[in-house]
Amino acid sequence: MHLVRDIYAAKADARRPVISFEFFPPKTPEGEVALLHKTIPALLETGPDFCSVTYGAGGSTRDKTLKIVERIERERGFTAVAHLTCVCATQQQIGELLGQIRALGVRNVLALRGDPPNGNEFQVTPGGFEYSSQLVRFIRAQGDFCVGVAGFPEGHIACKAGKHADWAYLNEKVDAGADYVITQLFFDNADYFAFRDHMRQTHGMEKPLVPGIIPISSAAQIKRFTALCGARIPAPLAAKLDELGENDAAVTEFGIQYATRQCEELLAAGAPGIHFYTLNKAGSTVRILKNLGLTP
Ligand SMILES: Cc1cc2nc3c(=O)[nH]c(=O)nc-3n(C[C@H](O)[C@H](O)[C@H](O)COP(=O)(O)OP(=O)(O)OC[C@H]3O[C@@H](n4cnc5c(N)ncnc54)[C@H](O)[C@@H]3O)c2cc1C
Repeated sequence: MHLVRDIYAAKADARRPVISFEFFPPKTPEGEVALLHKTIPALLETGPDFCSVTYGAGGSTRDKTLKIVERIERERGFTAVAHLTCVCATQQQIGELLGQIRALGVRNVLALRGDPPNGNEFQVTPGGFEYSSQLVRFIRAQGDFCVGVAGFPEGHIACKAGKHADWAYLNEKVDAGADYVITQLFFDNADYFAFRDHMRQTHGMEKPLVPGIIPISSAAQIKRFTALCGARIPAPLAAKLDELGENDAAVTEFGIQYATRQCEELLAAGAPGIHFYTLNKAGSTVRILKNLGLTP
């Protein structure tokens, strides 16, 4: 197990991008077998740096998240980050969870406010945290954890004061002790560059600001995801997805080309790495990494 902040530092020194993957805890035992014995081995052949495992809406996958993280680290010897949220949890419960995480030998967490269950608005749990910056500070006070946070190149969907206000709140997370930032998915690199420049110039941020990229594999699915998280589908991309319609094989092929072009431009412009939203599938991500010349 390596601390993710050390991975970014070492790769920056070597002038190599950090490649990471996001997984979600599968709902079924078959899904778990497929993730651990098919998807992850296929992705490991590309020589990546670390992965992360999400924490279901409302904290619903709490135990599963930890179990998958622990198995990836133990069975594959691969660094895994446990996502952790403030939803439906008191400070005491989060403290206990951090104790469990530590006991498993895991030291990397991604601190989030979290999505409430059933698409409802976030409600503070009595005795819990209102914002993820408070969670970051709490985790750092426990000592030896490396903490990542979420960032939003188009601003967070619930931030009525606009993206510059949201980016100032991101800076509070960094001041609270975050080691790196992974972005929400986006499709227009100009949004990432404007975000990065603002964080550097206005807030003096020097921590890795890592683009989160999703290889599109279904038009209907990506419209659903973007509606939920507030990411924009640029008009030419929307037109192409409409043209391809329900032909998922064609959408997947197009998604690989689109993500390859996005990653090429981001890495050429100095992004510290790419975090892939894999949706527990290896195929598209492996093809993109091959296109980028980033496989052994
Ligand atoms: C890389 C990544 C991974 C994710 N993984 C998960 C996951 O595993 N599980 C899950 O449930 N969700 C996950 N999410 C979604 C995330 O939980 C939601 O987007 C959530 O709504 C915001 O989380 P946050 O940590 O950015 O919240 P915060 O940083 O707390 O921000 C939440 C809102 O409050 C505002 N805000 C922040 N600080 C202040 C302040 N001091 N005063 C006023 N307003 C403030 C922000 O602008 C924002 O609108 C992930 C998102 C990303 C980008």
